Amino acid sequence: MELWKFFIDLLFPITCIGCGKEGSFICEKCKNEIFNLKQEKTRYIDKLISISSYNNPIIKKAIHTFKYKLAKEISTPLGEIMAERLKHFIPKELINRLILVPVPLNKRRLKYRGFNQSEILAKEISKHTKIPAISNILIRKINTIPQVKLKNPKERKSNIKGAFGINQNLPYSNFSFQKKIIILVDDVATTCATLNECAKTLKKLKPHQIWAIVIARG
Ligand SMILES: [Zn+2]
Repeated sequence: MELWKFFIDLLFPITCIGCGKEGSFICEKCKNEIFNLKQEKTRYIDKLISISSYNNPIIKKAIHTFKYKLAKEISTPLGEIMAERLKHFIPKELINRLILVPVPLNKRRLKYRGFNQSEILAKEISKHTKIPAISNILIRKINTIPQVKLKNPKERKSNIKGAFGINQNLPYSNFSFQKKIIILVDDVATTCATLNECAKTLKKLKPHQIWAIVIARG
C-alpha cells in the first residue's frame, strides 16, 4: 500500500455506510439487507433488473454518497453487488451475447461532476462478469434538465425525448448487433423515462433484446 494511503486510512477509516462498522463501505450484513430484487418489463426494455428499492435507507445513502462524494471507492462494492445479482439472471448460453452500455451523462453534468457514475458501474460489472462494457455507442445529443428536478412523469418523458443518439463514428460500425443483448446500466430508475429513451434509441441497432440493470428502483 502506498504510504499516503496508509495515513489516509488511519485518519479516516473506511466504515460501512449502513451501520458504521469499520473495514468496508458496505459490510456483509448490510449487503444482505439491501436486496429487494425485481424484474420487470417496460415499454422498450425486455428485462429491467433492479437490485434494491430507493426506499431502502442504506441504498439511498449509498447512491447519494456515490453521486456526490466518494465516487470511486463506493463504486467497487456497488458494482460488485450488481455483477453478483446479474449473474443469477443470465443463462450460461447467453453470456457471450451480452454488451453493457452505460447511460451517458450530459456534457455539462459530466464536466461539473467529473465522472459518469453509470460508466463507473458498467466497468465494475464488466470486471466481475467479463461482459464487455462499451461507453461510446450511445451519445447525449442535447443537455437536458436533470430528471430529478422534474417530478411529473410526463415532464420527464418530454424532457428526455430525443436526448440520445447512436454514435456514428464507431470503430465497429459494421458490427452486427442482431444476436446481441444490450444491457443498459444506471444507478436509479424512477419513471424509467431515461432508460426507455436510451432503449428506444438503441433499437436502431436492431439488437436481439435490450435489458437494463439499476441499483435502485424508485
Ligand atoms: Zn453495515
